[in-house]
Amino acid sequence: MNMLYKISFIILSFVVIACSSVQPVTRCDGPDLKISSNFENARVNDCKIVDGKIKLSITPENEPINDSPWYAFKITSTTEKEVEVSISYQGGHQRYTPKASQNRINWQPLKYRVRNNVLHFKVAVSPTPTFIAGQELITNKDYDIWMKSLAKQPNVRHYTLGQSTQLRDIGALEVTGEGDEWIVVLGRQHPPEVTGALALFPFVNNLIADSQLSARFMQRFNILIVPDLNPDGVALGNWRHNANGVDLNRDWKAFKQVESRLVRDKLKAITQSGGKIVFAVDFHSTKKDIFYTMPSDYGLNPPLLVESWLAELRETVSPFVIREQPGHNSDKGIFKQFIADEYGVHGITYEMGDNTDRAVIKKLAVVASDSLMQKMLTTTPSEFKGKSLK
Ligand SMILES: [Zn+2]
Repeated sequence: MNMLYKISFIILSFVVIACSSVQPVTRCDGPDLKISSNFENARVNDCKIVDGKIKLSITPENEPINDSPWYAFKITSTTEKEVEVSISYQGGHQRYTPKASQNRINWQPLKYRVRNNVLHFKVAVSPTPTFIAGQELITNKDYDIWMKSLAKQPNVRHYTLGQSTQLRDIGALEVTGEGDEWIVVLGRQHPPEVTGALALFPFVNNLIADSQLSARFMQRFNILIVPDLNPDGVALGNWRHNANGVDLNRDWKAFKQVESRLVRDKLKAITQSGGKIVFAVDFHSTKKDIFYTMPSDYGLNPPLLVESWLAELRETVSPFVIREQPGHNSDKGIFKQFIADEYGVHGITYEMGDNTDRAVIKKLAVVASDSLMQKMLTTTPSEFKGKSLK
């Protein structure tokens, strides 16, 4: 390439990256209303104001896709009033209860109905923007602030694992113990699965809390935490996929995506320098609270670790129901399966219900984290002897 071509290529590449890195802002203005999606995690694909009513539609990033329509936008009105909003789902069906917030901290679920695959609700609006979203907004910036706050502890390091498809930083936290055993905590492979994130924060906070149990745990175990593996999907308000339109939790076999490769390579680096992966947990959301586990007879070590951990948890949190669904499928490319097949140890998918009470999610995460630490501490390092897979 001559110099001119090289320069044009570089400029063009920047333009392509800049254009592809954000969801186009959808906005519409009426005489007294403004609707906009000009913020991270927003999603609206079409917008109209007809006779003072707000009519929106949303579409997925690509298809086929899991049926999880995500939406987020804000409404500003010149006067205080109530407006009618409708959201037409293209390529999906109702999943998330609409919620409103002015400060993005306190969210109010709204009464709604769905007719002919269109969501209808009313919301109070004012000159202060009202955010409307399918779940609470937890953005890439929120993860960054959280990781920085935890990294004030001397044994916790915050760093960038690498860059996503659209070159966003993927942050990680590393807690250094004295031994060679590593626990892996993963989150937000699927952007709208916010209740998974609402569980991950207290789960991790409790692992590294100022308690005797955490101190004992951190003395022995190292922890790798990658809480926001799909920052592009989060920024773009995607329904499920990364910026290439791929479900990351189906890529742990093919490793075609940079996001899953970054974690795979980090784990490889840990084991190559003498570390041992002993357990992994991956946070998600679905319709109900459920733990997807690997079967006790799959040949993982120690075989009963997860079964006995969840049995203890079940007793502690009763009457809250702990559902466990063991299963395996080596071909699907799911994270927990990769952990099992590659390292011979248990991985679980920790799923919180979309509508589970937020206080219950937090309480359960703390109890789950406590009982996991206790369970892990009762094992001896030799019990995590790795693969004895059939
Ligand atoms: Zn998920």
